[in-house]
Amino acid sequence: MHNFDKQAEQLAKEIVDYSVWRLKNDPPLDGPLSLGELKTLVGETITEQGIGGEATLEIFKDVLAPACISTDHPRYLSFIPSAPSISSNLFDLVVGASSLYGGSWLEGAGAVYAENQALAWLIDLANMPQTSGGVFVQGGTVGNLSALVAARYQARKKYPEINKWVLACSAESHSSIKSAAAVMDVELLEIELNEELKLTGSQVASTIDNFHVANQDKRVFAVVATAGTTNLGIIDELKSIGEYCRNSQIWYHIDGAYGLAALCAESVKHLFDGVEMCDSLIVDPHKWLFAPFDACALIYKEPAIARAAHAQKAGYLELFEETDEFNPSDYAIQLTRRARGLPFWFSLATHGTRAYSQAMEKTIEIAHAAAKLIKSRKDLELVVESNLSIVAFKKLGWNKADYQQWSDRLLESQIGFVVPSIHQGEPILRFAIVNPLTSIADIKAILDTLD
Ligand SMILES: *Cc1c(COP(=O)(O)O)cnc(C)c1O
Repeated sequence: MHNFDKQAEQLAKEIVDYSVWRLKNDPPLDGPLSLGELKTLVGETITEQGIGGEATLEIFKDVLAPACISTDHPRYLSFIPSAPSISSNLFDLVVGASSLYGGSWLEGAGAVYAENQALAWLIDLANMPQTSGGVFVQGGTVGNLSALVAARYQARKKYPEINKWVLACSAESHSSIKSAAAVMDVELLEIELNEELKLTGSQVASTIDNFHVANQDKRVFAVVATAGTTNLGIIDELKSIGEYCRNSQIWYHIDGAYGLAALCAESVKHLFDGVEMCDSLIVDPHKWLFAPFDACALIYKEPAIARAAHAQKAGYLELFEETDEFNPSDYAIQLTRRARGLPFWFSLATHGTRAYSQAMEKTIEIAHAAAKLIKSRKDLELVVESNLSIVAFKKLGWNKADYQQWSDRLLESQIGFVVPSIHQGEPILRFAIVNPLTSIADIKAILDTLD
């Protein structure tokens, strides 16, 4: 099992060949099979003797892989798709083959150094102080939770008499914020949006100030603004919210899992004015920065606070406690960690940042073109003007079942993957465009099926 023998040599070739084939060719969209179908087609794979690498790989290639939707398909426009660059995907193979440990400087200095350069690029784009720092975690959900745990840690130190903590966010905040509040057992204060569906500094100020007056025993420990909502791509008023948080000394967290990637696009960078005021932010390179799953960049303005909140302590870890070296494990809820920022770093180093800006602008242009096409049709209506690279729209007269049937047929016919969403209680369709290979012809092909 651990010797690189003849069989391993053969298997290596087949696995590399398959990986190269997958990267070279447009993937089919594919789609899920039922549990029953998979049981019939695959049966049991785990046996006492083992079935051998070749047979196992065949099962994966022939049945399991086609039973997974290709999230990098140019007409996969649901949720937030994935569009890793070729080089980032290739380097993921290297990360896997190298048993790198990304938790500590002692064990992974080289990997950590490289990851931190990628983080430094993001810190620079966000105009945060150079002393900012952080870590790549599994996803936005863990990133948000880790940042908020650091925020409460800090608040507890400032207000030792308080034990009822409150997290402020908006109705359009991502579901992971509610989940973080539940995990942390804190109350959620939902702040109303303006007509443009944005959270504003004045609304945040009046809601929180009134709340504190009415609830002297409770305290808001963090405000979460969203820089690109998942459903509509809307960016909250980052600057005015930042000013309020600074004045009232409340931790300011910006959830930019999807949207903050666009900081590298000149045409929209100004929309993120005020991002530099945050105490922490997240952005997922696996969403719109062309990296493979899974990688969320979690960045703190004062990493020392996060370290105090998160570093695990034990006799067998004491040597890490006594060092000044940078140990990524200390900055989130984790210990062992894959050096999951490396595929992103490799691609960024390979292609340079300009290629990122250009690829990003391309997806934004396609989103604008898609919105224009939708406006030109009488049977379709935009929900809002397109934001970043999300286009949300309705087909007039359709109900939820109509949308679902259409969506099912679209996948069955392998034309595209677009699932309905809900906005203010009404079913809608939305395109999330993060793949520079998605063309206006792809959009047209999907819209044509709505006739
Ligand atoms: C996707 C998303 C998240 C969650 O990120 P995961 O990587 O899926 O855990 C959080 N916030 C926003 C705004 C998102 O779009």
